[in-house]
Parts: sequence; structure tokens; C-alpha cells
Amino acid sequence: MNAKRIYKEAYRLLEQVTPLRVDCGQLCSGACCISEDNEAGMYLYPGEECMYKNENTPWLRIEPSAFLYGDADKVTQIAICDGTCNRALRPLSCRIFPLIPYLKEDGKPEIIIDPRAKSMCPLAQTFRMADFEPEFVRRVKMIFAILLKNKDVRDFVIEQSYVLDEIGKFF
Ligand code: SF4
Ligand code: SF4
Repeated sequence: MNAKRIYKEAYRLLEQVTPLRVDCGQLCSGACCISEDNEAGMYLYPGEECMYKNENTPWLRIEPSAFLYGDADKVTQIAICDGTCNRALRPLSCRIFPLIPYLKEDGKPEIIIDPRAKSMCPLAQTFRMADFEPEFVRRVKMIFAILLKNKDVRDFVIEQSYVLDEIGKFF
């Protein structure tokens, strides 16, 4: 896959379209961007790190995480921000939050509400999928219909879905 071209288009599609028509950050003071843990971050999708090559991003560091995926145990890159960002360069995980792709080896891809978001996000706590801005949901689905054609992205999403299952048991 031409990662740069695809992620650039995904970023563009989710530049203006957000979970609500209004700024949901006003509901929670931007809780998803605030962390007291300096090592907390969001996983980059496979190949997404290409978006940060030759960019000046002092607010973001990208490093290998302990999260592995696929038969070859590929390493997931994690992006750790300082709670601020250049909005035009925020990672895909931030753009789709609190939604996330979900897929099992034998299943069909779905977009679900991330169970991990329930600890801090009022939308994740109270919304059903039908309550989100429909255009936002449509675009997230469209982006992953394309991204999931890539084997690395599929393998990563499958692995991540097992984690979501485990976390989902607590909510
Ligand atoms: S935590 Fe949820 S409601 Fe708050 S800014 Fe993030 S997505 Fe919006
Ligand atoms: S990169 Fe931006 S949108 Fe993502 S968590 Fe950091 S401040 Fe929030």
C-alpha cells in the first residue's frame, strides 16, 4: 500500500468531521488529550509513522511499543504527545476516537465504541453508535474498509481486537 497517500486521505476525511457536530471537548475539557502518564500514547496504524517523516513535531514522540502483531511479531509504533498538537497532524487513533475497528480472524470488520474510552469519554459512556454524527461514522467505516485490505493493518486490528475483548469484560 502507498501508506503516505492512504493515511493522508484518511487524515483529510477526518479533518473537519468529528464525533459530534459541536466540539465534544467542551463536555469533558478534552479528557482524551489529558494524561498524567508521560508514557501513555496512542498506537499508530501500520505504516502511519510515514506521516511524521520530515515534520517538525516537538509535541510528539514516536517510539516502538511492546505491542506486537501478526505471525512475524511486528512492532507497533506508539505516539506519545504532550497534550497539545498540531491538529493537522494528529494521529488516526485520535481522529476516530472513541470509535475503533474490530475484527477477528473469522469475522467481519466492524467499527465499535472503544471500551477503553469508557473510563474518560462521556460519549463512550452514554452513546450508542446511532448517536454519533452519521457522517463521522460513515467516514471511519470507509477508511477502514480500505485500510483493512492491507495485511499488516488487518493483523494489527485482529491483535488489538483481542485486547478490546479483554478490556470489554470490565465494562
Ligand atoms: S473524551 Fe470523548 S467527549 Fe471528550 S473530547 Fe475526547 S472524544 Fe470528545
Ligand atoms: S495528539 Fe492531539 S488529539 Fe491526540 S491525544 Fe495528543 S493532543 Fe489529543
